[in-house]
Parts: sequence; structure tokens; C-alpha cells
Amino acid sequence: MKNILTFDVEEWFQVANLKAAIRFDEWESFPSRLDEPLSFILDLLEKNGVCATFFILGWLAERRPGAVRMIRGRGHEIATHGYSHSLIYEQEKEEFAMDLRRSIEAIGEADGGDVVGHRAACFSITDESRWALDVLLDNGILYDSSVFPIRHHRYGIVDSPRHPYVILRKGSRRLVEFPLSTVKLGPANLPVGGGGYFRLFPYFFTRLSLRRINAAGHPAVVYLHPWEFDEGIPRVRGIGAINRFRHYVNIGRSRARLCRLLGDFEFETMGEALGRYADLPS
Ligand SMILES: [Zn+2]
Repeated sequence: MKNILTFDVEEWFQVANLKAAIRFDEWESFPSRLDEPLSFILDLLEKNGVCATFFILGWLAERRPGAVRMIRGRGHEIATHGYSHSLIYEQEKEEFAMDLRRSIEAIGEADGGDVVGHRAACFSITDESRWALDVLLDNGILYDSSVFPIRHHRYGIVDSPRHPYVILRKGSRRLVEFPLSTVKLGPANLPVGGGGYFRLFPYFFTRLSLRRINAAGHPAVVYLHPWEFDEGIPRVRGIGAINRFRHYVNIGRSRARLCRLLGDFEFETMGEALGRYADLPS
């Protein structure tokens, strides 16, 4: 069973957990720390013969076009993570459309490649921002990976499907949605597919959970970020205890865990998996 491996490519200071302390207009003043963890990831993927999907922030693609070219050049898929890491449900429809188009243009200018996949900042396609799916379709996006089927103060559509599915929109337009992986725990869905949850839970639990998803006939959708592989990211003050915990927990264990994950499971890109779901009834 092939699972789906993805990375959201953003700098350590662009993360929602730090938003209370670092504003968008201050980003330019922080030094990039992308290269070292990105090299680690690309080398490890190459060693394991794995290709992944990289959702790149447009702001970064504009400033680091070489990184976009390097990722695609090493056989991976490039998709968009929006331009400014703004939460979709805090934007007007036209604002989001502009943000999305700007990100697609930045990636296109970096390496001339097409973009057909999208992941929202902080999984911010929720009940109140479902209209974003139409904006994605209007802009040539074929698949999305932004709907988290959990209850969380910042994101989630708790009763949405837990495995890849087709969303039918106005005019019979179809989009494939790849939800982030969860396992059922009583009545709740427990996130197990990456990010802070990958760092928080012991590795054996992640492995058990992914095996459970595969045993039910579904691929796991795993998401990680380069900054999660950088033990030296600065400790930012003024973000609150919960955000501090989410951002820094077990960051020193991520590298060894990713090595084990790549040894224990097979992966492909989201674009490769797309074909298996595009024809499903909605
Ligand atoms: Zn992000």
C-alpha cells in the first residue's frame, strides 16, 4: 500500500503558532533557515527512493526560486500552500483568489511548472470557507488537502470523510480532497498524520495508526514541515504556553522518526495518487 508524503514548505517564522509575536510585514527581517533542513529531507528521500509533494508558500517561492527548482529537479511534485499563509476563513473570496493566484504565479516564475494541488494555511477550509473550493477549481486546481476531519479551535470539519474522496461543486465540477490522516478513537477522530502530532506521539503509535489505516484499505496522508527538522529554530517569546508546546515539542526527535517512517512504509506523491480517486463517484 502506497501512502502519501507531503511537506508544507515555509520558514520557521511563518507558522501560525508564532503569529502573536511575528507579523507578516516583519517576515523580511528574519534570516532564512530553510536550506539545512530541506537538504536533510531531500537527501533522506533520495536515499529511500521516495518522491513527495511539496506545498510551497508563494512568498517563499518568490524569494527562493532556486529552492523550488531544486525540489522539482530532484523528482518531487510542487503544489501551492497559498502566498501569505493567511487563514482562508478570515479572507473575503476575492482576497483568497488573489492570494492563490499570486502563489501559483510565483511558483510558475520560479520553475515554469504547473500547479494542480493546494493545501491551505492551517487547514483553513472549514464549514464557513467551503466557497474556497470553487476558487480552487476556477484556478486550475485538481486536488486539495486542507480539510481536517477533527475538532480543533483553529480548523477542521469534524464530520467530513476521513479518507480521500471526490467533492462535487456547482456545474458538476469535481475536486479530489485528501484529508490529513486520523484514526477513530471512540466517537472522536484522532489526528495521526504529521506535524505536531507526529512529534508529540511516540513513533510506535504513529506506526500502529498508519498500519491501521492501511489495513482498512486506505493510504495515510502524512504532512511535515522543514522547520520541524531544525533543532536550532529560535525560541520565540510571547506566543503563550500552548503554542510554545505545539511548536517545539520533540523537535529533536523528528529526524530519526522520519528515517524510521520511510523504512516502515511506502510513499508516493499526491499527484500520483490522484488518478486512483479522480474517477470515484462523489
Ligand atoms: Zn503552513
